[in-house]
Amino acid sequence: MSINIKPLRKILELEHKKDYVDSAVIGGLDKFLRNWVSQVVGSITNPQLLNHFDKLYLRDPAYASLTKQQRKQWAGDVLDFLAKVESMDGERAKAKLPSVVDRPPSRARGLRQVVNQSIDSPITVIKGISSSLAIKFNRLGVKTVRDLLYFFPRRHLDYSQRHSVSQLGVGEEQTIVANVWQAHEIRLGGRRSTEAIVGDETGNVRVVWFNNPYLAKKLPTNSRIVLSGRVSLFNGRHVFESPEWELVEDRELIHTGRLVPLYPLTQGLRPRQVRKLMKGVIDQWAWQVEDFLPHEVKKHCNLLELPQAITQAHYPEDEVSEDKARVRLAFDELFLLQLGVLSKKRSWQESQPSKPFSPETVVLNTFLKSLPFELTTAQQKVLRELLADLQKRQPMSRLLQGEVGSGKTIVATAALLVAAANGYQGAFMAPTEILAEQHFSTISQLFSRVGQLQDGDDYLHTYYGILSRPLTIALLIGDISQVRKRELQKHILEGDIDIVIGTHALIQKDVEFCRLGLAVVDEQHRFGVTQRSALRQKGFSPHVLVMTATPIPRTLALTLYGDLDLSVIDQLPPGRQVIKTKWLKSNQRNSAYEFLRRQVASGHQTFIICPFVEESETIEAKAAVAEYERLSREVFPDLRLGLLHGRMSAAEKDKVMRRFRSGDLDILVSTPVVEVGIDVPNATVMMVESADRFGLSQLHQFRGRVGRGEEQSYCMFLAEHPSEVGRERLDLIEKIQDGFQLAEEDLRLRGPGEFFGTRQSGLPDLRMARLSDVALLELARSEAIKLFQVDPKLEKPEHHLLAKELARVWPEAGEWS
Ligand code: ADP
Ligand code: MG
Repeated sequence: MSINIKPLRKILELEHKKDYVDSAVIGGLDKFLRNWVSQVVGSITNPQLLNHFDKLYLRDPAYASLTKQQRKQWAGDVLDFLAKVESMDGERAKAKLPSVVDRPPSRARGLRQVVNQSIDSPITVIKGISSSLAIKFNRLGVKTVRDLLYFFPRRHLDYSQRHSVSQLGVGEEQTIVANVWQAHEIRLGGRRSTEAIVGDETGNVRVVWFNNPYLAKKLPTNSRIVLSGRVSLFNGRHVFESPEWELVEDRELIHTGRLVPLYPLTQGLRPRQVRKLMKGVIDQWAWQVEDFLPHEVKKHCNLLELPQAITQAHYPEDEVSEDKARVRLAFDELFLLQLGVLSKKRSWQESQPSKPFSPETVVLNTFLKSLPFELTTAQQKVLRELLADLQKRQPMSRLLQGEVGSGKTIVATAALLVAAANGYQGAFMAPTEILAEQHFSTISQLFSRVGQLQDGDDYLHTYYGILSRPLTIALLIGDISQVRKRELQKHILEGDIDIVIGTHALIQKDVEFCRLGLAVVDEQHRFGVTQRSALRQKGFSPHVLVMTATPIPRTLALTLYGDLDLSVIDQLPPGRQVIKTKWLKSNQRNSAYEFLRRQVASGHQTFIICPFVEESETIEAKAAVAEYERLSREVFPDLRLGLLHGRMSAAEKDKVMRRFRSGDLDILVSTPVVEVGIDVPNATVMMVESADRFGLSQLHQFRGRVGRGEEQSYCMFLAEHPSEVGRERLDLIEKIQDGFQLAEEDLRLRGPGEFFGTRQSGLPDLRMARLSDVALLELARSEAIKLFQVDPKLEKPEHHLLAKELARVWPEAGEWS
């Protein structure tokens, strides 16, 4: 196709749909036409076509001033013209002749390339993008034309307010349109620069560009120029200092006089160059993006057309359009995400486990009665929700949220017991080996209260008196001996083990279950969608319970983890107190040590978390050893210190943890591995070194290690030279106890991608969506559910484009038609 007629045809068709109110394109059809014409007119060489073209007044369109009837007539004529162009192109293609006989061969080659271009072609198909420029774009993750269209500016500079020269004030960003009276090279502060005098009917002003002598030649006398930038005072007179500039030509402004995009740059990309390039790309390609959103959805949600949204996101008419563009693009991201998770949920639920569980009321009640405390109301409610799920034919997939210390482990243990009583196996997965060990020991203690431990070593316990048969639990972690590991794996495969506790290694390839019925996953933020599907790929569709102490606002949870049902333990066990939290400067370290000492003297235990070392676990371990030795020798020679780090063997770690838990140690010096889950009620002080290095949620997790008993507990965060964000985090953690509120702050400070680790968890990127935009989240979710109810597999023809788009952005989400 030698003339790009697609955009115009689409717009006219849309105009027709909208009943000729000139709303198909922002800024009006006339403006669009002028731009379109300037791009295509050169390629119309056939005299007959050109004649037809001229009769349509396309060069000087006046659509806005036509009556509705006239508009209809005119639009019809233009569509006829486009059809004619197309049929001529078609014939030419059939005849395999060069389009115009007198065209030089090089152009003909260029034209043939055009035919093969699509928006998924590499960016080198774009005129002006050489392969070396393409490499620079690749560095920014931009490979195809589509990527470029979705390469949005970080923000816009508002140069839209035009002033006259006499209105110029000092200090603000301002724009003028003026005549160049003269421009020449001068030396300013010893550097070659450009100076110009420009003016309009209200006066003249001096302009200087430092270090840019070449500019003088580009500004001919009497040319019209637009300048955007700041004005300062020099010797009592106004001077524009290095403003953005642009000569007024026939084309639209790009660098000045409007909302000007600021693109993320990489070395070797200049802002003016990128802006110019982007403008060309958008004008040529944006209209070729197929709008995959179903018409009803767009209408119902009052969303822009996709090509418009893309255009306006780059070069907005005004702030309102910019915002509408963002809304449309953000909606797309959330809507697609939601469709993906819904489809995952459906395919998960379609995989039925063999039979629903029975609730095993007697076994369960005996277990619950044996606990040293009553379940909180919230725990009871969640347990009921779990039991209801387990009695269904479809596998459960549930997210359990509960603040640190809210008692998720007991609830999970009860569910695992029910699975075992039904003759199924259960798996309990923790993010770290230490936590797996702790869960193993917690569950062992709980079971010891109802049954008798008869057989047992460090990795395998068999209880009698809980079920009508022996109940066996096992700990499977990385550093037990190969022989022992293989032995445990054999037991698991043969079904001799009821409940296996371990890390995520449990779902990796060498562990095979006999009849896995329930998988509990602790701390979801390290266990993403991908891992969940790994379970199924092993040939199981067990019930899945994912637990997290990271409180996620409900709407967010539903959006990002919409494939999971949601349960919340929104209550702490009775007697929990507010943990006094303080951020200390490094010169207060000694008084912090004194404080630790006093707490130990009154019979309590304390944690000291060593600084987080990014390089490697080995270096981190070394640092912790050094710190432990320093503290033992110089600070607390009279106290009992223990050390915990990631390089110790499981047995060593376990020994230390056991000593700490049983009160044989006063101070536990540890790398951040204790971050999650460790539970020692007698510990009352948590001291964290280099606290500014940790995220808010992590700091809150540390704090959750203390205050588990009756005693007043304390948290001391040391930070020497916190960055601005670090300081903000420390201020927040001092003030806020509520994990929910902290999570929202964390989200705000870190941004969604990092907060949720979306990349690792297999979710598509969110670029335009702000997760604080609850209303849009809810809208996208409800629209997705509505559509999903009608056409879950997106098989209807009107959803064909949507299915294609979904497969493109999220291939693993499902099998799309
Ligand atoms: P989470 O995993 O949610 O952070 P845990 O399950 O580790 O919390 O429980 C924290 C502590 O609270 C444990 O010592 C546990 O025994 C105790 N606990 C749990 N439920 C209750 C309850 N209903 N009443 C009193 N203590 C409880
Ligand atoms: Mg826990």
